[in-house]
Amino acid sequence: MSSLVQHKCLPSFHHQVCTKNTIIHRIRVNCSATTTTDTPTTATKSKPNANQLIIEPKLARPPIKVVTDANRPMDNDPSLESTWSHRAWVTVGCTTLLISLGESIKGSVDMNMWVEPIVAGWIGYILADLGSGVYHWAIDNYGDESTPLVGGQIEAFQGHHKWPWTITKRQFANNLHSLARMVTFVVLPINLVFHDPIVQSFVGVCAGCIMFSQQFHAWAHGTKSRLPPLVVALQDGGVLVSRSQHGAHHRPPYNNNYCIVSGVWNEFLDKTKAFEVMEMILYFKLGVRPRSWSEPSSEWIEEIEIASQSQG
Ligand SMILES: [Zn+2]
Ligand SMILES: [Zn+2]
Repeated sequence: MSSLVQHKCLPSFHHQVCTKNTIIHRIRVNCSATTTTDTPTTATKSKPNANQLIIEPKLARPPIKVVTDANRPMDNDPSLESTWSHRAWVTVGCTTLLISLGESIKGSVDMNMWVEPIVAGWIGYILADLGSGVYHWAIDNYGDESTPLVGGQIEAFQGHHKWPWTITKRQFANNLHSLARMVTFVVLPINLVFHDPIVQSFVGVCAGCIMFSQQFHAWAHGTKSRLPPLVVALQDGGVLVSRSQHGAHHRPPYNNNYCIVSGVWNEFLDKTKAFEVMEMILYFKLGVRPRSWSEPSSEWIEEIEIASQSQG
């Protein structure tokens, strides 16, 4: 059975896992893009050598084997629950966004100027998708849990590739608190310095879309029947990243569809191979290999569950 067929089966298997008292057999689907280079499992420094750089992505037939992974999060895993610290950061982040949008509306009323702030907000929404793609690409491919500031996010995204469905079990503030903290530190100083409605509209919408991108991402992993109808309508209308588009990110060769706000940039970035070009530049300048060039390490292998009805 091919990896694609396995992956497409995931939602139905997942439903069974969530809703029925089942016996669970866990299998690992090893979806790999192999290279002819001698490859480490994570991004590591090595001396660039143009003669040795042979990248030939080959889609290997995934071996399927039964695994038991003690680290696999359970549905009610405490690591998926929100803490008061998470909720506090999300509250502060939302307050920061409301200050931006409030300032923008107040300035627009005072100056009787609406078109420019609305256009600025729309540009903020479009660029937030691009920003989400660049950030997602960066933390998927570089650094590790010890990386300053974003180590926790890198670790979380590696775990997400292995167990994509856990994002639908992750509680709201748990999922958003890291980006809420980042938005607070970046946007609050802007709020204090700039009081222009156009600037505030751009910053408020852009930062808001980035902060909530992890919620849009979680919805992209949802199943249509379980998502709110409005969310499904926004996904189908291209306002939010669609389930099918993001699903492609979790299939070999694991190097596309990084944008998770609206997904409007994905086709352009993938067709122009923008991320692959940046990976080559970083490799030749710094000697750092992205994870997407490597043999799939355990972080890149999606582990899925097949549930079967228990007898009686
Ligand atoms: Zn990813
Ligand atoms: Zn995902």
